[in-house]
Amino acid sequence: MSNKFRITPIGGVGQIGSNMSLVEADGIRFIIDSGILFPYEDFFDINYLIPDISDLGHIDCLIITHGHEDHIGAVAHFRDKYPKIPIHTPLFASKLMEKKLREAGHAQKFEIYQALDEIKLSESLSVHPVPVDHSIPDTFGLLICDKSSDTAVMFASDFKVDNINTSNLKKASEIYSAFKNKIALFDSTNMSSSQGKTLSEDELYDDLKRSIKESKGRVFVTAFASNVERTQTINKICSELRKPMIMLGRSMKFYTQTAIEGEYLKEYTKIHFDWGEVQPDQKNLLCMVSGCQGDFKSATRRVISDEDSSILLNESDTFIFSSKTIPGNEKKIAMLENKLSNKGVRLIRPNKNLKIHASGHACKEDLKLMYELFKPNHIIPIHGESTFLDEHISFASELLPDSKFFRLLNFKGFEIDRDGKATIVEMEAKDPLIIHGKGIVIERPAISERRKMACNGVLFVSINLKSKKYQIELRGLPVKLHKRKEDIDTLVKTHINGKKFRSSEDLRINLRRFCQEHIGYKPVTLVHEV
Ligand SMILES: [Zn+2]
Ligand SMILES: [Zn+2]
Repeated sequence: MSNKFRITPIGGVGQIGSNMSLVEADGIRFIIDSGILFPYEDFFDINYLIPDISDLGHIDCLIITHGHEDHIGAVAHFRDKYPKIPIHTPLFASKLMEKKLREAGHAQKFEIYQALDEIKLSESLSVHPVPVDHSIPDTFGLLICDKSSDTAVMFASDFKVDNINTSNLKKASEIYSAFKNKIALFDSTNMSSSQGKTLSEDELYDDLKRSIKESKGRVFVTAFASNVERTQTINKICSELRKPMIMLGRSMKFYTQTAIEGEYLKEYTKIHFDWGEVQPDQKNLLCMVSGCQGDFKSATRRVISDEDSSILLNESDTFIFSSKTIPGNEKKIAMLENKLSNKGVRLIRPNKNLKIHASGHACKEDLKLMYELFKPNHIIPIHGESTFLDEHISFASELLPDSKFFRLLNFKGFEIDRDGKATIVEMEAKDPLIIHGKGIVIERPAISERRKMACNGVLFVSINLKSKKYQIELRGLPVKLHKRKEDIDTLVKTHINGKKFRSSEDLRINLRRFCQEHIGYKPVTLVHEV
């Protein structure tokens, strides 16, 4: 491919998660981000999904924009396929990736970049990391410049405009404006939000402090564990109100410890990680708890469900959700809120008049600022579900009516040449891989088997045709069927003793028919000859 620039999303478009893009220019092929996707349907307790990169071919390097799991979560899988290529990353994300790579047995070697460095990939192609504001430290947009196709791309999948030094954005826009083809790929996460401008983290201080101060007893605050700035604000408030602060839950401890070690978080008052100097029943205690989405094994769920007997919530306690509900988690969170209400615990959630959570993503005003600064002539919305991409296009087309708009999907790439001729180029689309356990891929037919077993239960029969002995096991089936075990017994006995026995498959079909008659559905039925 000569004098052409191409960018193809491999994940992260039409869905929120598994962010990954392939960039091809001047004979170089590199990847931006390697994230995971949390299950969007019930895959029976799997860990996550990752983009399928088995056919990507030669790749020169990986560039990471920031340390959220939807951008770095699949890095160990990426390393399995590309064990040696350089990984360019900001420092905080590298600290978060170290553990994943160590556990997977990979080297933890990174090329750490700084704001506005030049990552030179060829004579003509270079990438400048541009600092942007988000909900995790060290987040960067990427300014990709390719002289061979006269193309500059501003890629900012996750950003808001908060307290960043806009001089960096201005410098980036100056470099960008010198190119003929000016492409923008910006965040679509908040396109359905009615809010004009995303709140700044600084704006949360007053309402958080008041909510904490007004509490009679212990205060529990759940938030996104990776939001170090939120932890910082709450730590400052704890120091002012003389409250001992302890972290509960694995991810809250991990992100906070990593942030303290990397000097991303200043301890105004000591942050505790274990009980000892602070006691669970201390009246003035503040606990930061991970699991604000109510996940099954999370600390928030354990605390609210009284699974930690040393804590046991009571009516003098306050529980603050300094977070938003990610679509799909409404029921899980409502269940926890109801439990809090039944215990008489004071429950505090963000609302229009109570600013205790700020999104990390751009609302329309933030996007407007970026579009006005960069004035792209080609606009491609990314990082969002399909309907968000549509809204992004209709919003941006009012701002920049002379620009061209492209609605990409995963594996549908945007290509442009020196003359500014743009086309959509399709790659072969691949379903994301499902990961369960120790980073193991589980294939879709196995998930479909799990679904059948989980939904309908299992009936096992082992038979020995020589000795005519047999054993019957029922799992996940109603008592009504257990009570008919004698009939199942007779059915099996008749089959293996009588002349009627033709095959174990024949017995299996009869057992399924029997179940259908008595319980109205057919369990997974296995007849095993020994
Ligand atoms: Zn992010
Ligand atoms: Zn993201």
